[in-house]
Amino acid sequence: MSAKFEISFEKSAEIAGGYAILLKTKDADTAAGVSAADPSGVVAKAAKIAGFTAKLATALDIVAPEGSAAERIFVIGLGKSADLASFDWLKAGGAAASKIKNTTDVTIFIDAPGVDVTPAQAADFGLGMQLRAYGFDTYKTKKSDDDNNGKAGNGAVTVRIVTATAKEASKAFETAQAVANGVNLARDLVNEPANILGPVEFAAKAKELEKLGVEVEILTEKEMTKLGMGALLGVAQGSVRPPRLAIMQWKGGKSGEQPVAFIGKGVVFDTGGISIKPAGGMEDMKGDMGGAAAVTGLMHVLAARKAKANVVGIIGLVENMPDGNAQRPGDIVTSMSGQTIEVINTDAEGRLVLGDAIWYCNDRFKPKFMIDLATLTGAILVALGNIQAGLFSNDDQLSEQLTAAGIETHERLWRMPMGKEYDKMIDSKFADMKNTGGRHAGSITAAHFIKRFVGDTPWAHLDIAGTAMGSPLDEINQSWGSGYGVRLLDQLVRANYES
Ligand code: MN
Ligand code: ZN
Repeated sequence: MSAKFEISFEKSAEIAGGYAILLKTKDADTAAGVSAADPSGVVAKAAKIAGFTAKLATALDIVAPEGSAAERIFVIGLGKSADLASFDWLKAGGAAASKIKNTTDVTIFIDAPGVDVTPAQAADFGLGMQLRAYGFDTYKTKKSDDDNNGKAGNGAVTVRIVTATAKEASKAFETAQAVANGVNLARDLVNEPANILGPVEFAAKAKELEKLGVEVEILTEKEMTKLGMGALLGVAQGSVRPPRLAIMQWKGGKSGEQPVAFIGKGVVFDTGGISIKPAGGMEDMKGDMGGAAAVTGLMHVLAARKAKANVVGIIGLVENMPDGNAQRPGDIVTSMSGQTIEVINTDAEGRLVLGDAIWYCNDRFKPKFMIDLATLTGAILVALGNIQAGLFSNDDQLSEQLTAAGIETHERLWRMPMGKEYDKMIDSKFADMKNTGGRHAGSITAAHFIKRFVGDTPWAHLDIAGTAMGSPLDEINQSWGSGYGVRLLDQLVRANYES
């Protein structure tokens, strides 16, 4: 993670050099902070000449403004005040962050005339800045000028956000900063190449959450063999790198209260195994652990903001490789549940990992609900592109809560159908089920496979193959690994499951 903004909130501020950033809606004539930053009225003049209309997340740039103590003024548009949604504050923050280069000092006036900026909105603005500031340049030995774009560069940038409720905003920003760190952790994990981040190394990253008070257990191959996790182990057997199962527990709720549970697919690299994938684009399969990354990032957020909830996070970490010891199409494995699986296609491996991880989770923790996240199927990209994730569930209430959290955070979901006819498609000639139902309805039959390990517990499966990586870049994300799911599930817990 690159250097970031050091953000503080203040009631008022004097400008002495650096950048001044002023927020303006479409419907007000003037912007926040004009009296402090622009005594000679150059902003209004520049806005007219440039035809700046304060559309959301657009910017007006004034270099060396006459009569101002600032070296540069940006006006960031907020759009129409009546249309302002909570996500727009993140966007505006991201837009502001993208303009910050060649300075170490920034003063931002966010109390746009005509808007009553709440502390939560001010904090969201700061969150948008931190999410935009993320860049993954660990392996660039030469930093180009462009790498500085929207990032803090080598040194930290001091950012003062001026708002009437500075004290409350500052408090709210502690939570926002926890969210930013969790999302950026998930992005780091996805962006990291597989030669560096194998199952053992990923498990060590999960273990680091102990610093925040998360209890972390790591199961090795031996322990998983004892538990009978034949489905997960079958996937791992073609790799020289052994699998791991990481179990993270955050106990922030009432003692003895049933936890909520999140389970992530962590295939650190997916070659497809013996059913090997074509070469084109295979490098992207280092991101096949996006579900596990989101769960790890989420656990980071919940612990860092001391969420008042009991939460379990479980990630199944394996590598899917072709090898003399790899499993073959036609092999039959026995899962921890006792159910047998005919492996038709070794590239349908994520569900094999999840089947055992979910069964283990339900069996041991009896959670209120289970939500799994997985970069599971290419078919979900055919259906939804990389704009929304697929939601599959056996529970209407959980689905509604997830959908609402998706709208709030702009990490959107679309509920897909399930049903007996689809479930039948994974019946096998030789075993209890097979691991693929063929091309048609591929995302749905994958969900049905997982459902066979869920029992009666309320459950949702999020197919994030389109949204966890390579999704369209926007105001708050310029990274290949997007960190999708962290803000979504933090919001779900915050809105519904904290005491
Ligand atoms: Mn696969
Ligand atoms: Zn996979």
